[in-house]
Amino acid sequence: MTHPEPIRLLIHGASGRMGHALLRLAAHASDLSVVAAVSRQPPDASGDVPWFASAALADVPAFDVAIDFSLPSGLPGIVGLCRSRGAALVSGTTGLDDSQRALLADAGNEIAVLWAANFSLGIAVLSELVRQAAAALPGWDCDVIEAHHTRKRDAPSGTALALGAAVAAGRGSDPHYCAIRAGDIVGEHTVMLTAAGERLELIHRASNRDVFALGALEAARRLAGRGAGNHDLAALLFAR
Ligand code: NAD
Repeated sequence: MTHPEPIRLLIHGASGRMGHALLRLAAHASDLSVVAAVSRQPPDASGDVPWFASAALADVPAFDVAIDFSLPSGLPGIVGLCRSRGAALVSGTTGLDDSQRALLADAGNEIAVLWAANFSLGIAVLSELVRQAAAALPGWDCDVIEAHHTRKRDAPSGTALALGAAVAAGRGSDPHYCAIRAGDIVGEHTVMLTAAGERLELIHRASNRDVFALGALEAARRLAGRGAGNHDLAALLFAR
């Protein structure tokens, strides 16, 4: 979808790690314009972008898409704002409970919404390829192997579980999981389908955390101007 004017973005959670990456990367994109950065406590020196405290969310100017990487407690505010402004919402905030997921699902009746646990474009495409491979090879052994740095506590990773869900969607049964915690590995996921005499491996390796911010910016481009609904990142990437 092409936009003659830059897409106007609101970055919610702008003072966080992801927020900083989004502001830095959006500044280099001529088709995107950040019109508001929102965090609980805006910084004293705000640079080129107008900052707003989350308590003053209603004061932000008009925007096309909000990109939310905050905390679950911040979700109701940004969902309510997007609904009242008729703007689209891209959210990567994790740790949502059932009521927060229901909030997003309900918002999809009114505005374009895209939530993803992992905004790497490669993982989005991988999940669709995995679903197809699992559907075509239902009798094969299937293993999801993931490797992350030693500070990561949860295992298997949320992304591994999402790939497992893609396997289950393809062939009706779950894969086996294997988790490795070692060194400073950013994130590696392998889906292995094995039969007697042959093996298929689908692998994704992330080497830089910017991929999540770049993926969210690409999601905002693809969501801008779309109708209401709960959209799927892989489906948007495969759409022509
Ligand atoms: P962070 O702690 O560095 O930053 C959080 C930001 O949210 C801050 O700007 C803070 O001011 C803001 N915030 C917190 N509570 C708020 C509230 N109630 N209202 C408004 N703003 C609020 O966190 P981070 O590392 O940038 O990650 C942010 C979120 O994104 C986390 O949920 C994390 O798990 C998720 N994440 C998702 C992906 C993905 O691909 N989906 C990738 C990385 C991180």
